[in-house]
Amino acid sequence: MAIKLHDSLTREPRELRPAQPDGVFRFYNCGPTVYAAAHIGNFRTFVVNDLLRRLLELEFGKDKVKHVRNLTDVDDKTIRRSREEGRPLAEVTKQWTDKFHADCKELNCLPPHEEPRAADLRFIREQVNMIEVLMAKGNAYRAADGSVYFKVSSYPDYGSLSRVKERELQVGATLKAAAADDDEKEDASDFALWKAHKPEDGDVQWPGPDGAGAGRPGWHIECSAMSKALLGSTIDLHTGGVDLLFPHHENEIAQSQCCNGTQFSRHWYHSEHLLVDGKKMSKSLGNLYTLDDLKAKGFSPAALRYALLSGHPRKQLNFTLDSLHAAESALNTLRIFKPKLETAVAGKEFSKTIVGSETVFKPAYDNLRDDLNTPGALGDIFSVIKHINLIEAIPEDLLAFNQLIFALGLNLTETAAPKADIPADIAALAEKRWAAKQSKDFAAADALRKELTTAGWSMLDRKDGYSLEPVKK
Ligand code: AMP
Ligand code: ZN
Repeated sequence: MAIKLHDSLTREPRELRPAQPDGVFRFYNCGPTVYAAAHIGNFRTFVVNDLLRRLLELEFGKDKVKHVRNLTDVDDKTIRRSREEGRPLAEVTKQWTDKFHADCKELNCLPPHEEPRAADLRFIREQVNMIEVLMAKGNAYRAADGSVYFKVSSYPDYGSLSRVKERELQVGATLKAAAADDDEKEDASDFALWKAHKPEDGDVQWPGPDGAGAGRPGWHIECSAMSKALLGSTIDLHTGGVDLLFPHHENEIAQSQCCNGTQFSRHWYHSEHLLVDGKKMSKSLGNLYTLDDLKAKGFSPAALRYALLSGHPRKQLNFTLDSLHAAESALNTLRIFKPKLETAVAGKEFSKTIVGSETVFKPAYDNLRDDLNTPGALGDIFSVIKHINLIEAIPEDLLAFNQLIFALGLNLTETAAPKADIPADIAALAEKRWAAKQSKDFAAADALRKELTTAGWSMLDRKDGYSLEPVKK
C-alpha cells in the first residue's frame, strides 16, 4: 500500500509518488514567521508535516526525500516587532529562529534539508528575478509608488485551489478590505509581489526588480522563488495549515505557473487548525500556549507531540490540558511495552517469509499511510499491546513497532522533567488516579490515593494537573 494523501486541489485522496527520474520526493512546507515564539497550533502543523516527512523516508528511503521549509523573516509583523524593540530586524528574527529550532528539537521534529530565509540575499535575488520575468510576460505591473503587483486577470485559472468563485462572498469581503488600504492596484484582487519602501520599514530595503523602486518582497513570492531555487519548477508536494490555502497558496500557484510555464506542485495538502478549549487560540482569550508554557506546567514535549498527533490531521483538534495527561499515560504504556517486546523476541530468528510491515502492526501502518490517520494508528497500536501474546511475538513485530514509533516521532526515553525521579509504578498509579478523578470516579480516585500514600507518596491536585511528593515522615 502506498501513502495516500488528500489532495486539496483535486479534493481526492491520491498516492504520493516522486515525479523525477532520480526517485527523490520533493516536498515544500510553508514555515513560520519568526517574530515571536511559535504557539502549539503552529506546532500542530509542523508536527504533522514531520510525521509526513518520516513516513516518506520509510516509504522511499532516507536519501530519497528532499524537504524544504522556509523562514519568513521579513514582513509587516517582523518589521513591526523590530521597530517596537528598537533592534535590527536580523537580530530579532535570529532570536526567534533559534527559539523555533530549539522547540522543534524538543518536539523531535527532523530539521528540513534546506531552510531558506526570505531576507537572505541569495533568495532576495531569486524573488526579484521571478518578479522581473512576470513583469516581462505581462503578468505583473509597476504601480505609481514603485510597488509591483500580480495581475490576477492575466491568469485565467486563478482560484482553482480555493474554488474562489464558490467562495465569492467571503473573498469579496477580503478584497474590499485589501482595496481599502491599497489604492495603487489596478484591480482589487491583484496582490503585491514587491512592496515599495515606506518610512516605517526603516532600513529594511533592497534594490527592486528592473523598473520598480527599492523595497521588499511581498510575502507570497518567497515560497514560489525558494521552492523553485531549491526543488525545481515542479515539486511533488506542497503543504501548510488550512489558513494558507487562500490567498497564500492560490497566489503561489499563479506566480509560479505564469513564470515557469509548468505545473507548480503535483499535490497540495492542508492540515486543520488546533483549537484550545473549543476556541480559536488568541492572546486576548488567554488560551494561547507555547511549548514553554506547557513545560512550566510540568508536561513533557513528548506529551505535547503525542497530543498533537492524537486527532486526525484533517479535522480540527480541540486541545485541553487533560489531553496532555492522557498523552503522558499513553506514552508510559508504550515505554513499558517496548522492553517487554524486546525481551520476548530476543534470540528469535527473523523469518524469511514475512516482509516489511506484514506484522501485527500492519493495521496501524495502513492507517498512517491512509491520509495520515493518526488516531486510527494509535488505536491499533494500543489494541496490539492489549491483545498480543508475547510468546508468539516475532522480531518483525519489534521492527514494525520501532518503525511506527519513528514515524510518529515519539520519544520513548524522555520523561517529564518534574517526574524524573518518581518510580514508574508510582507515576502509573498517579496517572490512573488522575484519570479516575477526571472521569468523576471518586471512589476509585480515593482508593488509588490511599495506595499511593501507603507506597510513600502524596499527590497534590491542582485545577489543571497534579504533583507528586514523598510523604514527609
Ligand atoms: P505563521 O508563523 O503564522 O506563518 O504560521 C506557521 C504555520 O502554522 C502555518 O502553516 C499556519 O497555517 C499554521 N497555523 C497557524 N495557526 C494554527 C493553528 N491554530 N493550528 C494549526 N496550525 C496553525
Ligand atoms: Zn508559503
